[in-house]
Amino acid sequence: MTPNDREQKVTALIDKLCLTRKLKRSEWVTIIRERTPAAAEHLFELARAVRIHHYGHDIYIRGLIEFTNYCRNDCYYCGIRKSNANALRYRLSKEDILTCCEEGYRLGFRTFVLQGGEDGWFTDERLCDIVSSIRAQFPDCAITLSVGERSYDSYKRLYDAGADRYLLRHETYDEKHYGRLHPPQLSASHRKQCLWNLKKIGYQVGTGFMVGSPYQTPENLADDMLFLAKLNPQMVGIGPFIPHHETPFARMPGGTAELTVYMLGLIRLLLPRVLLPATTALGTIAEDGREKGILAGANVIMPNLSPAQVRKKYLLYDNKLCTGDEAAESLNHLRERMEKIGYHITVSRGDSLNI
Ligand code: SAM
Repeated sequence: MTPNDREQKVTALIDKLCLTRKLKRSEWVTIIRERTPAAAEHLFELARAVRIHHYGHDIYIRGLIEFTNYCRNDCYYCGIRKSNANALRYRLSKEDILTCCEEGYRLGFRTFVLQGGEDGWFTDERLCDIVSSIRAQFPDCAITLSVGERSYDSYKRLYDAGADRYLLRHETYDEKHYGRLHPPQLSASHRKQCLWNLKKIGYQVGTGFMVGSPYQTPENLADDMLFLAKLNPQMVGIGPFIPHHETPFARMPGGTAELTVYMLGLIRLLLPRVLLPATTALGTIAEDGREKGILAGANVIMPNLSPAQVRKKYLLYDNKLCTGDEAAESLNHLRERMEKIGYHITVSRGDSLNI
């Protein structure tokens, strides 16, 4: 096949995905492996049209509160892994968290995302107390949790306390690949079971994966896309893998913005009504990463609402952005940047149409 034939094949697959929202595994592999800049441009045009059809030019914002960086897990890629003795650990009190929410509400946030490591200090009792306090004080806001793998009962108690949404990236569908990124105590099957449990309980569920994680192949990404089709989540968070200097993957190459935005476009075509963030990691590796993500079909941005003094401590990867336009206080500047590309930040809970 000539390069031209290959490009035509990929473009035809992009059209097929747009039309049918379904590809076979081998087609996913081709669409990813054989991509070209021209095919990517075609993809982004279609993805933008689909996104505008469902969500107009609105961008939803979520206030991210990174409330603990203690973690019992030892994921090989993550800067807050248990074995990183140099991480400066912190946890926010309920009062700190409520203060973040108050500040966020004042700025126009109507969704709060509480994210943290798997920190045993936050028992169901403590976390439910925090969730129900936020629920009582901000009845018009959505509460999203992102605190890793917990039992069915625990997820249910948190839901009953007032949490609406849960983010848990599956990281990678393939068991073997998962095993190369995590210690043996963690398994892809358990993580996926958590996602099914969350769905069953009634959460709006978000999942996702890192792009360019060590040892990842186009086949792995193809399996990730098939899993997304099966789970049909309300949100999908993807971002490039970025090495952290104090992890076993310190010297591994990072993922690229180019492949990340391409995957964003594909996800928009696969799940037209999904909530799709242009993530911090994408903004970290490319100065215009947020804009590129939005122009590839993303419709969510999650600025940081954590207290300024702890932001640098939630270092999942090197050079993670936490100030400037990443910070919730700079919302006006972020708003201007988005206006420049024709999109508007809205004050809204921004529920998924995919319910
Ligand atoms: N503990 C919760 C969990 O496991 O879902 C939430 C916190 S965890 C740090 C949030 C996400 O950060 C992970 O799902 C992972 O995809 C991402 N992450 C961690 N290390 C990263 C790295 N080095 N580069 C890019 N993303 C990373």
